[in-house]
Amino acid sequence: MLAYVRKNISEVEYHTWFAPVKNLGVQDGSLVLGVRNSFAQEWFRKHYLELLEDALRSLGAEHPQVSFQVLPAQQEAMLLPSDPPPAVVTAGTNISGRGQREVAQPPMPDNRKSLNPKYTFENFVVGPNNNLAHAAALAVAESPGKAYNPLFIYGDVGLGKTHLMHAVGHYIAERFPDKRIEYVSTESFTNELINAIRDDKTTQFRNRYRSVDLLLVDDIQFLAGKERTQEEFFHTFNALYENHKQIILSSDRPPKDIQTLEGRLRSRFEWGLITDIQSPEFETRVAILKMNAEHNRINIPQEVLELIARQVTSNIRELEGALMRVVAFASLNNVPFSRAVAAKALSNVFTPQEVKIEMMDVLRQVAAHYNMPPEVIRGSGRVREVVVPRQVAQYLIRDLTDHSLPEIGQFFGRDHSTVMHAISKVTEQIGKDPELTETVGLLKRKMQGL
Ligand code: ADP
Ligand code: MG
Repeated sequence: MLAYVRKNISEVEYHTWFAPVKNLGVQDGSLVLGVRNSFAQEWFRKHYLELLEDALRSLGAEHPQVSFQVLPAQQEAMLLPSDPPPAVVTAGTNISGRGQREVAQPPMPDNRKSLNPKYTFENFVVGPNNNLAHAAALAVAESPGKAYNPLFIYGDVGLGKTHLMHAVGHYIAERFPDKRIEYVSTESFTNELINAIRDDKTTQFRNRYRSVDLLLVDDIQFLAGKERTQEEFFHTFNALYENHKQIILSSDRPPKDIQTLEGRLRSRFEWGLITDIQSPEFETRVAILKMNAEHNRINIPQEVLELIARQVTSNIRELEGALMRVVAFASLNNVPFSRAVAAKALSNVFTPQEVKIEMMDVLRQVAAHYNMPPEVIRGSGRVREVVVPRQVAQYLIRDLTDHSLPEIGQFFGRDHSTVMHAISKVTEQIGKDPELTETVGLLKRKMQGL
């Protein structure tokens, strides 16, 4: 099946999207593919559903069905090991047994069910903006109920508060599988309470929250103005606190700035440690992007990550979104990653940045066009297959950047007269050699237009 897909899309596209896909077998007559995240899921649905159905048809399935499932982040995605047996994918036959078992995944340990598997300490990049919050979270994870109680983490949206809370949950869950861990947003807590009151189940509600070992309550600023929820939370807090159970709270602002919060709650929030997360510095943003790219098995040059990190400065969720946007854009247009491509991909969302084309950008484009590694073009080979791309690269660099002949020479490990020769060679051939003319024109348009 993959062979069919591969034939019908570009290599870049294939590697970006299909390499990390995992075959989860057949469920209810539908082939289930595991993908990395909800973004990929969306993308597959929109762009590859038909192709995959065609691929199944080519294997004999009459009514092929494909669905996508987001893999838990820890599960190492692998290349699809081989095509699924065609008989199994023939639609209409209701497949159970063997297919079903392949789909089954090890269930999450129960005490982690409210946690996002991606939000672990391992996946949390520490920088000067969050190192205090990180250290406090780690201390709490190592001695729950003893280090700081409650731990109160505040900061703007998208800076990692929820991630850190879950990280503590995972850490404790791993070491103490019996501990009860509950993560809840203040919104859910409120809604559950409202439902419990309506259904006359407040006792169950109380028992549930007062019997946990670790309670993570997210976005506690939403308690503002909700008197009944505050009242209930006050008692939950006291019950847990008296039993030395760990409580972690997050908010977009410190307790003192939460309006209409009862004084007794506010003072309790201040009993433990209050720590904040700030916007990440440039280096931290790049590190986060790098980790993300690695997790998604995307090979993307450092300078492109840096460009993205310059564009998105405050919100990490947006930073991740920008990366995905660049990946999608490059894959869709079948161009290698470059700063120009990234700038173009982000130009609808962010104020376009003036992107100076760098020598490396040009070299990469040329290398991708001729389908050879950039180092080979820069190397010492003298065969025609390498010499022509090298001359084209030097010509385009001279044309598209401000670099001088000696600088270009240095970049290629040659002197300026060699570069001059290369440039005049290409100039001479343009108009005469149709293939070269087209190549140069195409690459130039790609570099400038994209
Ligand atoms: P908040 O709760 O503060 O609004 P989240 O915890 O939801 O923010 O984080 C938003 C996104 O950014 C998540 O996908 C999270 O994994 C990621 N993220 C935040 N901080 C970091 C970090 N330091 N390292 C890696 N990823 C991070
Ligand atoms: Mg959050």
